[in-house]
Amino acid sequence: MAEPSASLPDTTPLPAPAAPKLVDVSSLTLEGLARFLTEQLGERAFRAGQVYRWLHQRGVTSFDEMTDLSKALRQKLKEQAEIVPLVKDLEQVSIDGTIKYRFKTRDGRFIESVYMPSEDRKTLCVSTQVGCAMKCSFCMTGTLGLKRNLTPGEIVAQVHTVNREVRAREGLETYRPLSNLVFMGMGEPLHNFENLKTALSILQSQDGPNFSHRHITVSTVGLVPMIERFGQETDVKLAISLNASTDEQRNQTMPVNRKWNIEALLEACRKFPLRQGRRITFEYVLLRGFNDSDEDAYRLIELLRGIPAKVNLIPYNENPGLGFHTTGEERAEQFRAILAEGHIAAFIRQNRGRDIAGACGQLANRSGQDAAQSTQAPELP
Ligand code: SAH
Repeated sequence: MAEPSASLPDTTPLPAPAAPKLVDVSSLTLEGLARFLTEQLGERAFRAGQVYRWLHQRGVTSFDEMTDLSKALRQKLKEQAEIVPLVKDLEQVSIDGTIKYRFKTRDGRFIESVYMPSEDRKTLCVSTQVGCAMKCSFCMTGTLGLKRNLTPGEIVAQVHTVNREVRAREGLETYRPLSNLVFMGMGEPLHNFENLKTALSILQSQDGPNFSHRHITVSTVGLVPMIERFGQETDVKLAISLNASTDEQRNQTMPVNRKWNIEALLEACRKFPLRQGRRITFEYVLLRGFNDSDEDAYRLIELLRGIPAKVNLIPYNENPGLGFHTTGEERAEQFRAILAEGHIAAFIRQNRGRDIAGACGQLANRSGQDAAQSTQAPELP
């Protein structure tokens, strides 16, 4: 008999084989999907168009729904790929028809999208990040900090899901009731540029929802180097959240200004490649007694001189505890009139969804309890 001690089997369990990493096909461009299908699944390239149209024209959320694919291919897809879900978690309807949708991500995070129907368009305000790193002092999302970037699939899924909701709610036949997209939800789009770009490529694709570049606007706090790339690498419309007429003001409310000040920002705007007839939208949140004086309006005219610009004046949506107040209607109108006299087209943006905290700068997906607590928070001086 052999020496038992010498031949004792090693029973330490082997490390479990790493689970095969599933490819999130909902985050791929058409080219990326074609590469995956041909190189990894050994399929013919035309299959990519089929899968892509299921995903992004019809907005299906499982491989089983892709009924014109063979059972074998669907099986292969299930084994090696996934469609990362975004689940509608809550919906709140405002008296003005605005609907705020809250979505839960697979890792248990919450984001929000806001649907704004009007007579001539149906617009969705889309989120690009969970939270935001920019810390603008008047904005509720800024108080969350940045949790993570949304994937291209999660950005696009907001559009697919709301299309489906609107179709059902309004009894429509068209597969894409939404007409316009604004990237003005939670997060800073240019801080998640690669994923934004992929999402735009999907949303603008003829094999996808086929949105026109004229119907998509991306808004930024003013990440100057990214504005240049945005101009070179996309063709959609640009909006800048200016919100101040001096650096002193802007430094106080928008920390990004300490890195790229108003002059640097406007220089990037002057260089921005604009299509024929297009203008840059400047958003200007009116904060009572802070940036809404006649002098502010006159300075704004000077700042924007020479830039094809349009100004959206946004009456501030008050957030308990943040310490800023709404400019009255009359003051807002006077401010607009001064800009108009200075040949700057300015519009007072209608406030929507305030009653459901779905308006600009109110997206923070607090639970009811958190919201009640934040109401009691002391006001900042
Ligand atoms: N981070 C990007 C995208 C968000 S857009 C950006 O800042 O442009 C959200 C818009 O709402 C911005 O123009 C912002 O200045 C504005 N905003 C933020 N908080 C607001 C509030 N409480 N009331 C009104 N507008 C607000």
